[in-house]
Amino acid sequence: MIRQILNEIHKTLKDGVTLIAVSKTKPATLIQEAYEAGQRHFGENKVQEMAEKAALLPKDIHWHLIGHLQSNKVKYIAPFVHLIHSVDSLKLLSEIDKQAKKNNRVIDCLLQFHIAQEETKFGLNLQEAHSLLTSSEFLEMKNVRIIGVMGMASFTNDEQQVKLEFSNLNGIFSQLKNDFFSLDENFRERSMGMSGDYLLAMQEGSTMVRIGSTIFGGRN
Ligand SMILES: *Cc1c(COP(=O)(O)O)cnc(C)c1O
Repeated sequence: MIRQILNEIHKTLKDGVTLIAVSKTKPATLIQEAYEAGQRHFGENKVQEMAEKAALLPKDIHWHLIGHLQSNKVKYIAPFVHLIHSVDSLKLLSEIDKQAKKNNRVIDCLLQFHIAQEETKFGLNLQEAHSLLTSSEFLEMKNVRIIGVMGMASFTNDEQQVKLEFSNLNGIFSQLKNDFFSLDENFRERSMGMSGDYLLAMQEGSTMVRIGSTIFGGRN
């Protein structure tokens, strides 16, 4: 079943778009099934759950942390995490840098932006990102690499609104690219789009879609 669903999703993906299978709350057996169908990128939103699953599952899985991350928990995922999508403060980034250094690696990160209308969602605005990227503390970090942006659209059926929010995130990406990363070809990722809105997100420039319930079924 999962193999078929993954095949169907792949038919809809634009060239160069990475599919992240969001496996939060789902058991390792289902992740293994997706792995056997060729899926290698998985997303989790909780540190402990991700660490437990990573210990059980094949070592060549690329684990993406997509949920809010507290600084004091970075150490649990620093040895293996592939990409952290949810960097929303200098404090968090500097803890990631510190833990990456301890593990002798460079950890890739995305800056998370607040693009939705809802108050509750985490994320930076453009001005906050500017001050982060120009801070001397950031400029001295050697063990993190910022490779793009991430955002979540409003939870609404209003397609125009969702499109606008994705388009805004793509605009933020372009501005940062121009202002800070014009010579850095690694800065290219726009993590946007979930089960319900990833087609719209790809129209607006998404390079990474995070799809959970379509692949693994609904969550409680
Ligand atoms: C849960 C989650 C997803 C996946 O949502 P689905 O609607 O199940 O595809 C994507 N991104 C983030 C940040 C999530 O927390």
